[in-house]
Amino acid sequence: MAVVLDAGSGFVPLSYDLLREGGIEEVVVLFTHYHHDHTQGLFLSPLIFMKNMGLRLVGPLQNGVDPKQMLEDLMRPPYFPVHHREVDSHIVCKGLEFPKTWLGLFHPQGGGRLMEVDAYEKLLLKGRFLPIGKGQYPVSECLVVTMRIANHPEQTITYRFEERPTKKTFVLLTDHENQSGLPLDVQKHLQNADVIFMDAQYNDATYQKRTSGFGHGTPRYCVRVAKQVGAKRLGLTHHDPNAKDTDVDAILAEARTEPGSEDLDVFLCADYQEIDV
Ligand SMILES: [Zn+2]
Ligand SMILES: [Zn+2]
Repeated sequence: MAVVLDAGSGFVPLSYDLLREGGIEEVVVLFTHYHHDHTQGLFLSPLIFMKNMGLRLVGPLQNGVDPKQMLEDLMRPPYFPVHHREVDSHIVCKGLEFPKTWLGLFHPQGGGRLMEVDAYEKLLLKGRFLPIGKGQYPVSECLVVTMRIANHPEQTITYRFEERPTKKTFVLLTDHENQSGLPLDVQKHLQNADVIFMDAQYNDATYQKRTSGFGHGTPRYCVRVAKQVGAKRLGLTHHDPNAKDTDVDAILAEARTEPGSEDLDVFLCADYQEIDV
């Protein structure tokens, strides 16, 4: 099983990589939201046409749209030549009206499942084994994924991944703007992360002049947040589609002007990049 965050253009080469590697029978896509830059790769991926590949789509439910509705809206003529009805036999969708009441549990042998936080906590009180797939597995062997809502024109889910055996933690906080301060529950969600990927689309000058309210962050804001929550590493992402390499380099340079950035490992996220958390 592979767990993927969003299905933008990078989902297409990733899909081919997964097929080349082999041994994967199910791909879980956790959507932050359904803006086009986060969904278009889904329809261009070979995975969606492979009946023997399980595809599980999870995302927020908002304005009546969940992953199933997104599929129905976007995958049909005249927007796309193949109708979703022709492929949906191997696709399972789940919309989350209140994302923070859910968590994802993934186990190397058991596979994955979503569970309500209340039910999870009750099971933990009884013992440390959780039903995942056809078996029972200890949470200490799981990847545990929790969710919070982040601020964007649409509500965006930020996902936190905790790999319990190694205690390594990764958070994706993209399509996010909150210059006036993070809500407490999101602060907690980011606390002590080993790696955070954050939205740093605009430099301060552009943000002040033109893009405040667009739902994206700035590099210095990202550094402030990473410092506040005690993160070890910060990956700047959601680069502006019009940015040249030099513009993106300037985003990193601007991040490094924020006081306190000296003792934070700040880097630019790049296509096809692999990092160890
Ligand atoms: Zn967006
Ligand atoms: Zn976006």
